[in-house]
Amino acid sequence: MPSESYHTRGGAPGSSPAGLDTTVGDHDALRPYLGVYFRCANRYVKTFRSVDGSGYVARCPVCAKPVRFRVGPGGTAQRFFEVSCR
Ligand SMILES: [Zn+2]
Repeated sequence: MPSESYHTRGGAPGSSPAGLDTTVGDHDALRPYLGVYFRCANRYVKTFRSVDGSGYVARCPVCAKPVRFRVGPGGTAQRFFEVSCR
């Protein structure tokens, strides 16, 4: 595991903060969403699937870092994730 520090905000587009890259299963055609708990903000965020259906992006309410979740076959059925930007 690389031990880089993630103190830069808003890095290159498409880069995932804190090395998060999660694939979630394609489930629930009706209002699909994920619950994401940001430990750094102590806040729970509900995020809906992007309009193109390719995934979800949750944004930290405090530091505004995006956390991406891809939708794909074989992805986890998990609907709740706990992340931290720090
Ligand atoms: Zn944060």
